Amino acid sequence: MMKAAVISLESESSKWTIEAMKKYFDEVDTLNIHHVEISMSGKRAEILYKGKPLQSYDCVFAKGSFRYANLLKSLTLLINGSAYMPISDRAFTFAHDKLLTQLEFQRTNIPMPTTYLASTITAARSILERLNYPIVMKFPQGTGGKGVLFAESFASASSILDALSTLRQPFIIQEFIETRGTDVRAFVIGNEVIAAYKRKAKKNEARSNIHAGGTGEAIELDDETKRIAVRAAQSLGAEICGVDILLTHKGPVVLELNLSPGLQGITQYTGIDVADKIAKFLFEKTKEKKNKTQKVGADKVLSGIHKAEQKEDSLITSIDFRGSRVLLPEVVSKLAHFKEDVDYEFVVTNDEIRIKKFK
Ligand code: ADP
Ligand code: MG
Repeated sequence: MMKAAVISLESESSKWTIEAMKKYFDEVDTLNIHHVEISMSGKRAEILYKGKPLQSYDCVFAKGSFRYANLLKSLTLLINGSAYMPISDRAFTFAHDKLLTQLEFQRTNIPMPTTYLASTITAARSILERLNYPIVMKFPQGTGGKGVLFAESFASASSILDALSTLRQPFIIQEFIETRGTDVRAFVIGNEVIAAYKRKAKKNEARSNIHAGGTGEAIELDDETKRIAVRAAQSLGAEICGVDILLTHKGPVVLELNLSPGLQGITQYTGIDVADKIAKFLFEKTKEKKNKTQKVGADKVLSGIHKAEQKEDSLITSIDFRGSRVLLPEVVSKLAHFKEDVDYEFVVTNDEIRIKKFK
């Protein structure tokens, strides 16, 4: 029995995904994010749906706009690997903020536009004085092209800056990448770009978003661009996402990830049944995770039987990451009798960590 839930704003794209998932999963529940609530105390935390504890699922696909980033992140942390989730908790933090996205791309070596951040308006003005024009100024949480401002000269950048400071609106400054109003949306599922299209901005418009009147056309990306799109998705921890890329003569530059990409455009322009690909991927990954958990269960029983003659217990499972930190499985820390007020020594080599009581 394989049970899945899609937690979303119930957009048309989510409906397509849910319909496709019904072909693979035994049961698919449609949950509206507006009815999700989280309650926490020192002892316990609970996810509520319409006031009742959330059922348990094998797969939860949670998505929504930046407004729901905190809720989506908390939900993912609380589900804590008990269901397969294609988007990690950290992805909700990073992808919904263009500044954090650029920081993470920088750290993981993903090509991106040079980006500047200043602490004060005076400092920002001094950056603007030094730059070549045009430049771009962006709200970290804008979407649909609405938070992107272009300045042709220092004079116009400076007056935009005054407006932003009056509004107390945080922003980043970015080098303008000339692509004659075109950009690429690559749709990443797992470690593959399954479809891509090129967007062209409307005449007299620099933003190529479809919401800003842009038009699209299927494109076959070269291997290098595909690799970079997949790396960008992995860098923020999303297994299903849209990646916005600018193609330049020096190679691809990644702008951002979209964790809840619309399916209409990509399906229409490429003729690829993206919803079906998402559904199939979710099903395969969920099956894989379920098999793995069952294997771990069996290993636990076996290790129990051999306990008398063996000093060591072994458990085979994947590693649970919190950012770049590692969380030990509960059974492991219990078997080792780890305590909070004791010092431990870490012996680390490539691919191996031994944690021993420090003597
Ligand atoms: P949004 O979340 O609003 O889509 P993006 O950062 O993706 O924000 O920017 C929207 C559009 O503006 C892009 O698709 C691209 O056409 C254009 N754009 C954004 N940043 C740059 C840049 N640094 N250089 C050139 N064009 C850009
Ligand atoms: Mg975009």
